[in-house]
Amino acid sequence: MRDTIVVLNAGSSSIKFSIFGLADQELDLLLRGQIEGLYTEARFVAKDANGALVSERTWDAESPPGHEGALDHLIGYLRYKLADDRLVGVGHRVVHGGLDFTEPVVVGPEILGYLEGFVPLFPLHLPHNLTPVRRLLDRLPEVPQVACFDTSFHRTSPPISRLYALPLEYAEAGVIRYGFHGLSYEYIASVLGRFDRRAAEGRAVVCHLGNGVSACALQGCRSMASTMGFTGVEGLPMGTRSGTLDPGVLLYLMDQRGMDARAIERLIYKESGLLGVSGVSSDMRTLLASEEPRAQLAVELFVYRIGRELGSLAAALGGLDALVFTAGIGEHSAEIRERICRSAAWLGVEVDPAANVAGGPRITSLTSRVSAWVIPTNEELMIARHTRRLIEQTN
Ligand code: ADP
Repeated sequence: MRDTIVVLNAGSSSIKFSIFGLADQELDLLLRGQIEGLYTEARFVAKDANGALVSERTWDAESPPGHEGALDHLIGYLRYKLADDRLVGVGHRVVHGGLDFTEPVVVGPEILGYLEGFVPLFPLHLPHNLTPVRRLLDRLPEVPQVACFDTSFHRTSPPISRLYALPLEYAEAGVIRYGFHGLSYEYIASVLGRFDRRAAEGRAVVCHLGNGVSACALQGCRSMASTMGFTGVEGLPMGTRSGTLDPGVLLYLMDQRGMDARAIERLIYKESGLLGVSGVSSDMRTLLASEEPRAQLAVELFVYRIGRELGSLAAALGGLDALVFTAGIGEHSAEIRERICRSAAWLGVEVDPAANVAGGPRITSLTSRVSAWVIPTNEELMIARHTRRLIEQTN
């Protein structure tokens, strides 16, 4: 009988899962999959560690499951798949730990209730992240659950980097810059020393370039500043999110265009970024392949804004030793990496085009003052590690 850990990442329209087997020191990925298209055209897929299809199911378009139906299917699948194994814990990706949770935590009903109190701070994602916790407490009460927060890793950043220049009473009420993608940055920080010891001990900027996009300044592998703030819409342009806007734009939209909070939310979360500027797609592959001038403009703006933000993060660190690219675009697009590296030439980044096209891991020349790397992220493994540690501590 093998011990296993399940990792869940529930979003607004999908629930992703991974199953890890516990080996001596590490965790082996056994299976991963998702149920996507919740409420619309739902499809369940599970694949083994080599990507081979293990199980799939589609639902009738007339009666697609929502979160709870999808979770019930997943629980049934886990019961069947892990019948000969022991499920020792479930780890959840939870977007926000509020002001209080600066570390992963074992969640029972009481802590779940407390976390639900943060929903007004992060209404778009947090309810979806917490639904599986509640469902599993109900259906598998004997299995311990651990919440891992996207905000926790940034707890080390100096208070000044977290403050907005609003009257202080707002900061006291929780309106501060939290920063996100923390599990991704924590994973990168945990492996950076294997690639570049000087960077792990010194100053690095990690660019997490996926559908969500942010960058984080690390000093000695601890977060010092992040481009994301109170919510995941601040900072860099993303697939469909605008990134930083002049707050005056929002006032204009309300006063002159009669837009309410929901309409503005739709605009800045769903209709902006690469999609909004290009009018073509939120997908970087599509934009890079497109002849459409607006698609090229969207890519140019993406690179330009990242280039500017690198200067800001390097300033927060007082210099730069290394640059790291991760997530979908960062791991796979040599073109975007090269363009960003070129915009950071003034910081001492000297890209090696051949190494970059080959995918790294090092993509700068040996004479480059600042090294640059491609390091695949692994948020699920980070959650599984935290889950294992907390469960072993509490046993
Ligand atoms: P998420 O943030 O949803 O986890 P990913 O990290 O998978 O997303 O990143 C998705 C982004 O990565 C998309 O914009 C996609 O176009 C981009 N991407 C994936 N592969 C490539 C590639 N070969 N070239 C350019 N962009 C890529």
